[in-house]
Amino acid sequence: MEMLEPINTDYSYGHLTKVQRAEIIKKLTESQKQTIEQYKRYKVNSMLLNQFNKTGTEWKFLEEKINWNFNQSNPNESNLHCSCGRGVKYLYVCKSKNNQEIKCFGKNHLEQEAGIGSNVLQDIRKEKHKIDRGLDEIVIRVDGDVFFPTEPYEFLKKNRMLDILFSKERMEYLKEFSREGLPIYREDENKMIKEFNRILEKVKEQKHQKWLKTTEGIQYLKEQVIKKKYNEEQEIIRIERQKIWLNNNDWFNEQKNFERKSDNKETTIFTLKKRTIDNAKVTFNQVLIHHNDVTEKYCIESNCDMDALIINGMFDGGSVTNGKTIIPQETVIRLLKMLNKKFEYDINGLEKRVDEIYGILEHEGIIKKSKNRFIANY
Ligand SMILES: [Zn+2]
Repeated sequence: MEMLEPINTDYSYGHLTKVQRAEIIKKLTESQKQTIEQYKRYKVNSMLLNQFNKTGTEWKFLEEKINWNFNQSNPNESNLHCSCGRGVKYLYVCKSKNNQEIKCFGKNHLEQEAGIGSNVLQDIRKEKHKIDRGLDEIVIRVDGDVFFPTEPYEFLKKNRMLDILFSKERMEYLKEFSREGLPIYREDENKMIKEFNRILEKVKEQKHQKWLKTTEGIQYLKEQVIKKKYNEEQEIIRIERQKIWLNNNDWFNEQKNFERKSDNKETTIFTLKKRTIDNAKVTFNQVLIHHNDVTEKYCIESNCDMDALIINGMFDGGSVTNGKTIIPQETVIRLLKMLNKKFEYDINGLEKRVDEIYGILEHEGIIKKSKNRFIANY
């Protein structure tokens, strides 16, 4: 199972006109329409129950009935009648908290009988409007071909998480909408997605922890430790190298001085020579830091200029890291001979030593033959 992307709720949907709403609802199946209607009834009823309770009336709200064909000029034609006999459009079915008597009131009678005044009725109208607008979110999502989020829903149901996330009433609505494949509020969908992802993440983490205890996992952890140490070392070496070259002016300026100013020539040569060696020693250290046994056994020494320069040449000043190709022998020899012309190092027996060092490093597995080249493996 894959993690799910949360739904964007940064923007609010625009509101539909009656005509637009009706257009979209037309596309729904009969039972989908009924489900939405039922849900709306439920919302309206619980809102009315609340509003009635707020007033402290002895009447408990049970149900609101509406005659959509109500004719203002002939109210008595209405199929809904107030307890006093008058025909009405809106009828409120109430139950007395005192004697359980059930009575129906129209708006006017409601005020006298239950003390539910026009201010409350106004609130009720506002709340109804809110409910309509709320439902527009669902209607608009239907229009955008959004369906019920079955995957997280079923998953959470299986994991017995739904009733922790949602109230009983909300669960009921989700169940109905699930059955009809209707989209739900983005907020509810995100709630599910968030929990779904959280559980998935947890399961993944548990699996990973378990895997870490297997032979493979233990090997992986060991490699991670080595890798981390290697990276840290490389970083230290990089900084060390940077320090050598950043001292005073940069390399190129000094090269220019070297060509131009003959009076400074000797100091400049001295500085450059020293830096080249310092840099070579850093490379030597970079490659052979974990191979003290090898350097001791074969007497390869960083204090020997030639050895350091050969290693530096082979690993191209440290830029040949593990897995990269080593500079070929002939190139290293040519390079050192060029350097020698300028700086006069002690490189007697260069070819022989280069050949020896390549052999030793290959024998010790610090470089590996691959086809016709060597690969760094220090
Ligand atoms: Zn009445």
